[in-house]
Amino acid sequence: MNIILMGLPGAGKGTQGERIVEEFMIPHISTGDMFRAAIREETAMGLQAKSYMDEGKLVPDEVVIGIVKERLAKPDCEKGFMLDGFPRTLPQAEALDATLKDLGRTIDHVINIDVDRSILLDRLTGRRICKSCGSTYHVVFNPPAQEGVCDKCGGELYQRSDDNEETVATRLDVNIEQSAPLLKYYDEKGLLRNINGQQDINLVFEDIAKLLRGQS
Ligand SMILES: [Zn+2]
Repeated sequence: MNIILMGLPGAGKGTQGERIVEEFMIPHISTGDMFRAAIREETAMGLQAKSYMDEGKLVPDEVVIGIVKERLAKPDCEKGFMLDGFPRTLPQAEALDATLKDLGRTIDHVINIDVDRSILLDRLTGRRICKSCGSTYHVVFNPPAQEGVCDKCGGELYQRSDDNEETVATRLDVNIEQSAPLLKYYDEKGLLRNINGQQDINLVFEDIAKLLRGQS
């Protein structure tokens, strides 16, 4: 089972990704982890990536895809894998297809956890942090007993400047714009599976699990 997991910030991709790898016992391949491992293991591509990063330069796509290829060729990926955070662009998606072809593999499903922008905004702007002890709350999903007051220490709760509506909206819109061509690409290939991410997280996972077990 070879899958790509997609979802905007706040859609619950992290939680669902953890549950997918646990249930289906496939490796979770995230861009960050893959880079760190390639550099630590000093693979050919890892060394190239490091030289760009040491110079403060962006790692070019051919190196990124080289690292993906090295990772996907490892024995733990034989039964499948879950890519998370890659591909990010259309050229990366096309390069991934070529790489998979070389490896004699294909993508089975591109799972997109679908949540309306307005709901993501609510989720992402609702976080509150205690000024005294740093505990985090959410105005909807994990509210304190008394509004604006920390349950643990009675400290004052505040909203981080990164969590304000304007910053969050900008970040979301950049992500929406970046992911749109990818979603279209995979939709046209018949691989896109939109999962309703606006339900309870257990139900979201049930939908994903049904799909991966071939029941829907
Ligand atoms: Zn506190």
